Amino acid sequence: MLYIGVDIGGMSVKAGIVDEKGNILFKDTAVTDAKAPAEKIVSDIAELVRSVAERGGVSLSDIGGVGVGSPGSVDDAAGVVRYSCNINFVKTPVAGMLAEALGVGRVRISNDANCAALGETVFGAGRGAKNSVTVTLGTGVGTGIVVDGRLLTGNRSAGAEGGHVIIKAGGEKCGCGKRGCFEAYASATALIRRTARASVRHPESLLARLVAERGIDGKTAFIAAKAGDKTAKRVVAEYIRYVGIGLVGFANVFYPEVFIIGGGISKEGDALILPLRDFVRRNAYGAEFNPPIDVVAASLGNDAGIIGAAALAMGD
Ligand SMILES: [Zn+2]
Repeated sequence: MLYIGVDIGGMSVKAGIVDEKGNILFKDTAVTDAKAPAEKIVSDIAELVRSVAERGGVSLSDIGGVGVGSPGSVDDAAGVVRYSCNINFVKTPVAGMLAEALGVGRVRISNDANCAALGETVFGAGRGAKNSVTVTLGTGVGTGIVVDGRLLTGNRSAGAEGGHVIIKAGGEKCGCGKRGCFEAYASATALIRRTARASVRHPESLLARLVAERGIDGKTAFIAAKAGDKTAKRVVAEYIRYVGIGLVGFANVFYPEVFIIGGGISKEGDALILPLRDFVRRNAYGAEFNPPIDVVAASLGNDAGIIGAAALAMGD
C-alpha cells in the first residue's frame, strides 16, 4: 500500500508518495501563499497532491490515505487547524476539505513537530522504538512524544509542548511571553544569545574573534570549543547541561527508549549527543536500575515531515 505525506510550511508545501517502509518514491514542492484565504491554500495543496500522484504513477483511489503535517495548533481528531502563526488557517477543517477535494476517504492531520517525531520514531533514528521523545533544537524547541507507538498529544491535541516546560523559575524570557521555559535555554536562539554574551565578557577569547570575523550562529561556540577555547567550551557545556535538564524531566515522566534530537544544532553530532546521553543516564530517576535510555541525532532531515505525515495516515 502507498500513502501520500504532505508537509505544510510557511514558504512551501511538500508532498510525497511514501511506501509502507517509509521510502519516498516521488516528491515535489509548491510555493505557499501563506496569506491567501484558507480555501485557496487548501485547493493549492490538493492540486500538488494530485500532480504528485499523477507523475508518480499512482491513482488516488488506490492509496491508503493522505497524512498532513501543519504548523500551528491542530485538533488531530477533528482534523482542524485552530490557528497558525505561519499560515492563514483559523479553525480551518483542513482534513475534511482535502478529503472532499481529493475524493480520498482517509485524511489525517497533526502538528508538523508531531509528524516529524512520528516519522523519526517509525522510520528514522528511532526505528524499532515504541516510546520516544523527539526534541527539535531550532529557532524554538519543538517536542513530539510517542507512547506505545502512538502520538501523545493531550486533550484536543493541545499538549506535547515540551518547549514551554519551565526549567528555571523567573529565568530567561521565552518567545511565548513566559520566563524560564526549556526553549529559552535549549533553542539555537538561546545558544546564540549565550555565545554573544560570552564573547562580550571575554574579548580575548577565540570565541570573540570568531564572532567578530564571521558573525554568530548556532555553530560558532561549537567551532571555537573544538579548537580548545575555554570560553566556548564553557558556553557549550552550559548549553548541553540545560538541554540535558529538559531531557531528564521528560525521561522522568515518559521514560522513553530513545530521545531523538533534531533541528540545526543536532548537526553537531557526537559533540552534542554523547555528553547529552551521559547526562540523561546519570540523572534520570532510577536510571541505574532501569533500562538505559538512548539519545540519538535525527536521521530523516528535511524529509521527516513528509515521511511522518505518511506514517500518520498509516496509523489506525
Ligand atoms: Zn515558552
